[in-house]
Amino acid sequence: MKIVLSETLSYCFGVRKTLELTDKLLAERPDRTYYMLGEIVHNEHVIEDLMAKGLCIVQTLEDVPPGGVVILQSHGSTRKRYRELEERGLEYVDATCPMVKIIHDRIREVEAEGRTPVVIGQVGHEEVRGIVGQVARALVVKAPDEVTPELFEGVRRAGVVSQSTFIEEDALRIVERIRGIVPDVVFHDTICQPTKTRQREVEAHTRRADCVIVIGSKHSANTMHLFHIARKINPQTHLIDKPENVETIAIPAGATVFVASGASTPGELIEEVVRRLEARDGVSGRPEEKTAALPGKVKGGGA
Ligand code: SF4
Repeated sequence: MKIVLSETLSYCFGVRKTLELTDKLLAERPDRTYYMLGEIVHNEHVIEDLMAKGLCIVQTLEDVPPGGVVILQSHGSTRKRYRELEERGLEYVDATCPMVKIIHDRIREVEAEGRTPVVIGQVGHEEVRGIVGQVARALVVKAPDEVTPELFEGVRRAGVVSQSTFIEEDALRIVERIRGIVPDVVFHDTICQPTKTRQREVEAHTRRADCVIVIGSKHSANTMHLFHIARKINPQTHLIDKPENVETIAIPAGATVFVASGASTPGELIEEVVRRLEARDGVSGRPEEKTAALPGKVKGGGA
């Protein structure tokens, strides 16, 4: 077995920055209680670790008592949430990724220009909620077939932005459909560079691999996008969110296995998957065939 690791594995810089900031706050100010709305990453071990260090995970600001400090996550928040924080007199630390802030700026510009704001992304996703929450009203579409004359009825000028982790090719197809209906469309390509780099690597390596393993949660949008990109090219693509799941994947002898991960997948999880793959290879009696690219060391994905 030959194991090829993606160049950009584990956290993107936005998620890493939020995690590092949270760790630092918990260590330096143990006298304060920090709250986060929802989970910072889709991984129970990371969440358990942060909770053990004192972080409280809540679902709404109503659950934060006076004196609590709220950490706003990398995927951004609605304007309403900032207002609510002020109204409740709650202190907060804003860890919104700078690239998400750019999307917020773009959609506000679109609205200021008198265009109908359109967001390419998944309805209900936290990041999309944050983007939509920057303007009075926005249309959200996630697939070309959702772009219908009915949805865009009366729209003469539109300004389109994208969720940071969307698939570039799909976003362009959606924009093309909108241009077929709306006479004046501007598109701000706001898919972040770390996402594009990761997606391009997955596409290139998947073409040369016999089997692809994408590590991450099915609740993570960027992980699912990587999975779909790879699956379209190679049906032997598997999504796993626990190291033990790798044992259930049938890998032919001598196969080249490409390993990729989502932007919120912890490095330890990836290392454990690779370790299990290596151990499995050893058990099969072919350790000399294994050429794991980065055993025991996982690189993070930078900008
Ligand atoms: S996926 Fe991109 S925009 Fe989102 S947190 Fe990571 S770097 Fe920032």
